[in-house]
Amino acid sequence: MLKIYNSLTKQVEEIRPLQPGKVEMYTCGPTVYSYPTIGNWRTYVLSDLVLRALRIEGFEVDSVMNMTDVGHLTGDNLGDADTGEDRLEKAAAKEKKTAWGIAKYYGEDFVDSFGKLNLVKPLLFSKATDHIKEQIDLVQRIEKAGFAYRIADGIYFDVAEYEKKGNIYGKLSNLEEIKPGARVEINTEKRDQRDFALWKFSPAGAKRDMEWESPWGMGFPGWHIECSAMSMKYLGDQLDIHVGGEDLKSTHHPNEIAQSESVTGKKPFVRYWMHGAFLLVDGGRMGKSLGNAYTLHDIIEKGYSPMALRYYYLSAHYRKQMNFSWEGMEGVSNSYKKLKKEFLALRVEGGQDKNIFGNKAEVELSGREAFFRDEFVSAVEDDLNMSAALAVARTVLKDEKLNSFEKRRLVENFDKVFGLKLAERDEVPADIPAEVMEMVNKREEMRKTKQWAESDALRKEIEAKGYKISDFFDGVKVEKI
Ligand SMILES: [Zn+2]
Ligand SMILES: [Zn+2]
Repeated sequence: MLKIYNSLTKQVEEIRPLQPGKVEMYTCGPTVYSYPTIGNWRTYVLSDLVLRALRIEGFEVDSVMNMTDVGHLTGDNLGDADTGEDRLEKAAAKEKKTAWGIAKYYGEDFVDSFGKLNLVKPLLFSKATDHIKEQIDLVQRIEKAGFAYRIADGIYFDVAEYEKKGNIYGKLSNLEEIKPGARVEINTEKRDQRDFALWKFSPAGAKRDMEWESPWGMGFPGWHIECSAMSMKYLGDQLDIHVGGEDLKSTHHPNEIAQSESVTGKKPFVRYWMHGAFLLVDGGRMGKSLGNAYTLHDIIEKGYSPMALRYYYLSAHYRKQMNFSWEGMEGVSNSYKKLKKEFLALRVEGGQDKNIFGNKAEVELSGREAFFRDEFVSAVEDDLNMSAALAVARTVLKDEKLNSFEKRRLVENFDKVFGLKLAERDEVPADIPAEVMEMVNKREEMRKTKQWAESDALRKEIEAKGYKISDFFDGVKVEKI
């Protein structure tokens, strides 16, 4: 059974879905006003790992990810997402496009990058602007239940009233995190500073790119309401897993819970909340103003494969802060290439991808293979300990008792969780045959153990086959002569 850390109960728990055999999952996706940073991608990779891990456990997974294309204001930098400027309209003014143009451009880029990182597509990328009706309906239900009130700039959720009815607000966060102290711009009309906008009115006399008619007048949805409305529409009043970045834990997610549970009764909206930790750059904060808010495009422009970035994410536990640096990137890129090279050097045809996991296994494994499979599975099940799972893969490739066929079968199956495209040959030069790559790898091993004479002899053999090797401090380059 897969065990994960549930931010709601603050402990590691087995995932037991509501329906047998099927997991309903929602991930808080991007606000499509710019390119996601590598910090954002870390969260989406976490969501992907959960999905892949559940699949090898034999679960069917229904997964939805939202795309926020309206209503997310800049104020959350100050601790209040209902204030400030609309992120999309701001980007539109800067890039001389409409808010719709911005959402389309960055939305398409997001889906494209999603593929590059080999993330399993959800059933649906659901856009906030495609669900205005659902959001209005939900706000009306909240209003009818007595948890909403109107002030000059919008309809707000009444946190104190919610608590009065015996609910707990802010279960996910430590209470001091949601004190309004840090907020610069205080809306004095709010009954309680924790109250948040469900619907915002268009400013009088101004025409927004994105605005809709509503029972309360022209306006647009608050940021939080979309996730409740879309999650409830596609996954029901209760779902199993909700994944998001750590930054959503103190406000966005408590607000999602309050909105949803205020109309569905006290049954928990989400049973397992998962949060990915921050990503630091060079040991410090990442920020647009610091010039280090790197995107996937920056990684690719510097010559690294998106798969190497994925490997970087796998090497750090999702609950620990991860430090990104370009030196680190270089290191993991080499580790990734080495793993892939060793895998592709296995002298067997591909196609050892028949399932070896759980009660849906299609093949019978030898005792030694089963041992390594179980090691791998227990690392994954242990709150997604991916660095341990990678270590099992490396051990398998070096094992002296497994044959090439068994190694390939194991690691190709492990890659169903890693998602590192190990079996795809596109990233090694296509004109180097596997037989030669194997000799190259064997020679590298010899050099590591200082068997100079043997490694030289092997180099001559490789040259006789028509290939030249150049040694670098961090690896080798193979070329056709
Ligand atoms: Zn969320
Ligand atoms: Zn959300």
